[in-house]
Amino acid sequence: MKTIKITPRGYCHGVVSAINTITKLNKLSMPKPIYILGMLVHNKKVIENLSDDGIITLHDPSKTRLELLEEIDEGTVIFTAHGISPKVRERALEKGLHIIDTSCKDVLKSQNVVQEYLDKGYSVIYIGKQKHPESEAAQSISDKVYLIEHLEEIDQLNLKGDIALTNQTTMSMYDVYQIAVYAKMKYPQIIFIDEICNATRIRQEAVIKQEPVDHLFVVGDKLSNNSRKLVQVSIEQAKINATLIEGLDDLDIKQLSRYRSVSVSSGASTPTRVTKEVTDFIEQFDADDESTHIKR
Ligand code: SF4
Repeated sequence: MKTIKITPRGYCHGVVSAINTITKLNKLSMPKPIYILGMLVHNKKVIENLSDDGIITLHDPSKTRLELLEEIDEGTVIFTAHGISPKVRERALEKGLHIIDTSCKDVLKSQNVVQEYLDKGYSVIYIGKQKHPESEAAQSISDKVYLIEHLEEIDQLNLKGDIALTNQTTMSMYDVYQIAVYAKMKYPQIIFIDEICNATRIRQEAVIKQEPVDHLFVVGDKLSNNSRKLVQVSIEQAKINATLIEGLDDLDIKQLSRYRSVSVSSGASTPTRVTKEVTDFIEQFDADDESTHIKR
């Protein structure tokens, strides 16, 4: 089948840097046990490999990073590329834990923006996803940070004085710009600081500029915000229907048989190997030849 591999796709520099940091750690000399707060990469195989290396992943989407931290009493805690709130850092220090911080520099920059405007006396409207570690970290800085996810939520705010508007790094840039325009109508004094990271921006732009195909498959975890946003951008901006799949196992043969051409992208924390399995399979796929329908 005609298969367009959209570039760039897959690991961003923040995830690569986090993986490199952890790979190079001298685990023998580190206080044990070693935990990661949340998923380093959204892939079971990578988590299993970490586990084989003696690193325990604490992952429960219903819990905040602070709640997960309470499950650790000793040893080392690794913070993921998503960033961490000052409260979690303080609590980890209080507990006497050894800290390894792999926060992405783009996330740190966006946190600094929030802090900078709070310091100047501004209220900060923060566009982010509820319960995402990055927005959770921004929100926890001050009760003058107002987390919103959708445009309508602007109407529920009743702010006075100086206001800054900024965002989680991995949101849809189109949603963010739309909210910024709307917010400016309600609060003409608002200052907008665009914090979409470059990795997110160029992946979304590549999806929008893709050549016309029957469908896009985004390989990524259901919890990966940037993967979900690639699906959203494809449907809303490129007008190409899209499906999020975690890997080859999720690929629906009946669905695939309906298409003549597809494109493939992947989230910033999806291992290349997982995406390659999907593209290799689709490339050899022929709807009329059942021998090509078998997933090996
Ligand atoms: S998606 Fe952007 S902010 Fe998140 S880790 Fe990657 S580069 Fe950093």
